[in-house]
Amino acid sequence: MIVIASSGGDVGIRQAVQALRDGGSAIDAVEEGIQHVESNPDDHGVGLSGMPNLLGEVELDATIMDGATLQAGAVGSLKGYEHPISIARKVMEELWHVFLVGAGAERFAAEMGFEKTALLTDQARADWQNSLWEYLGISDPAQLQQARELRHIGRLACYTAKILGTVNFIARDKQGNICTGVSTSGLGLKYPGRLSDSCVIGAGNYADNRYGAAACTGMGEIAIRAGSARSTVLYMKMGMSVEEACREAMEDLDALVGDRHRGIHLIAMDKDGNHYGAANALDRTKHIYMTSEMNSFAHFEGHYAPFRTDPKLEPQSDARDGMN
Ligand code: ASP
Repeated sequence: MIVIASSGGDVGIRQAVQALRDGGSAIDAVEEGIQHVESNPDDHGVGLSGMPNLLGEVELDATIMDGATLQAGAVGSLKGYEHPISIARKVMEELWHVFLVGAGAERFAAEMGFEKTALLTDQARADWQNSLWEYLGISDPAQLQQARELRHIGRLACYTAKILGTVNFIARDKQGNICTGVSTSGLGLKYPGRLSDSCVIGAGNYADNRYGAAACTGMGEIAIRAGSARSTVLYMKMGMSVEEACREAMEDLDALVGDRHRGIHLIAMDKDGNHYGAANALDRTKHIYMTSEMNSFAHFEGHYAPFRTDPKLEPQSDARDGMN
């Protein structure tokens, strides 16, 4: 039995492993681990106190995938609920659908008895206001709330602010079943309604007991375009080791052309529980892992290959003009 997680998972990985020791499934372990991260007020990339969008609204995304059945659940742009991972699990278990967003996802959460939570903590609000000033030169958020157009400033925000944060968990239980879960508040200062790779099955999350599983953190736009998590699992199906599959998926990201490059960190596990991580532009090549025999988690250092970017594609700094 083993659990691996991206670095922010350190607050939940012990509880996830304990869930496996107590006889819980890989799905139980993933949900348990991620819930702890979602409730951590010091993590501004996930759940409570997540970084808001340009307008100051916290919009959460999450997915869960069961490698035994290939069933999946996803929620996107969810406001006002602390545990999107649990709502995603309910989508997987209770609905015929796979993916709910916005008002529909919130309606479903209420139907399933989830409590509403005010997600924008004082700290997250202060960080948001500081970021608007630091990265965009905006001192009064009302300027944005009243703006006719946000598209130019939104583009500049994603280039300059670089506010990222997401958690990935992959668990393999006693029966050899694998589950992956991902939860995020997405890119800080994102355009309202923007969805991350974290809530797109195949992009930021994929699990298949027969071959393995993969999950991403980083610039979701490129993981969506490359289908990174699904590709990694497919490369294992084709016979590659988990390390080779991660490196191959990184090559795919390198082939993308355009202006949304910032980098991805991929973690993956094969069907036997061997794991690996690869990154191409983030200073985060470490993930954590813990087996049922270990008392605490350990760090795993994977492959890091800087990503090539084309500076000519950087946005114009006069993007603020487009707001008016
Ligand atoms: N993948 C997330 C997103 O695109 C961000 C992150 O992983 O930090 O919103």
